[in-house]
Amino acid sequence: MTVWERLRNPCGLRAGAKQISVDAMLPLLVVPVLAVIAAQAVLCTVVVFLATPILVYYLHHNFLRFLLRTKFFLMWTITSVLMLMLVFEMSVVPLLEILPEENAVFIACVVGGIWCGYKAKQKADAAAQEGVVSLQGLELGEGSGELCATCRRRAPPKAYHCRLCQTCILNREYHCKWLDCCIGSSNLGWYLGCLFFSAFAFIYGSNLTMTSVCHPFILIGTILLPDDCSDVYHQLDLALCFVSAVYSLLVGVVVFAYLLYHLWLLSIGTTSNERRLNTESQYDHGMLRNVSRLFCCKT
Ligand SMILES: [Zn+2]
Ligand SMILES: [Zn+2]
Repeated sequence: MTVWERLRNPCGLRAGAKQISVDAMLPLLVVPVLAVIAAQAVLCTVVVFLATPILVYYLHHNFLRFLLRTKFFLMWTITSVLMLMLVFEMSVVPLLEILPEENAVFIACVVGGIWCGYKAKQKADAAAQEGVVSLQGLELGEGSGELCATCRRRAPPKAYHCRLCQTCILNREYHCKWLDCCIGSSNLGWYLGCLFFSAFAFIYGSNLTMTSVCHPFILIGTILLPDDCSDVYHQLDLALCFVSAVYSLLVGVVVFAYLLYHLWLLSIGTTSNERRLNTESQYDHGMLRNVSRLFCCKT
């Protein structure tokens, strides 16, 4: 832990006003390096995709969870989006297999996803800030709901405490590691918008890439599916496109599953926080639950 703290802030140096922390900078190096390693051969791709979750779990379990609020996961998101965008625009588009309007739709979805994600984070940070400020002004016992054991004040009904945001969040879903903010009533709409646009962008971008670098076949009309991807590893840039497409597809499917999960929660009128509180005592999976907490951004 001490070593990690030292690494986080070498010699107590400050770069300008911002403190450099190793955990936040790590993804900038790790994500592109892993992509290049994965692009070497089929076996490398399989190993990297299997080993990365284990590596991230190890890092989280041994170091990151002891830091109050690490930017590691947020930086992982930003690096991944930037890398996928760069690979797409600089390696896939020049192959001239993609129509300009397909590229325009893709870019519009990426921009939509980034904008919604940014707004979700901005709203959450504003709400958390407000919570902390009003906390200082509130007398003990004010408010209408249950007394929060940590804030030592009465939060509104349906508000739950987040230890990372250090305040009570109204209609809290969970603390999303990948955006580094709480999802609650202040930003659920933006968050769902972010899930919708990014799921579409990830899956669509993956499909466009795969059909450009592999031999495609026509499914219906202009919808293509990749057929034979065996020769992509002969060229590093094609292999990188292919690896990015696989990564993009996996992320897209997970994001889409999250979107469906939230729409289902909305339809039955509850939040994941409440569901978890209701079911936590019945289903304690130990290790499995820790893993799901790590990758499903639940805290
Ligand atoms: Zn609280
Ligand atoms: Zn939070």
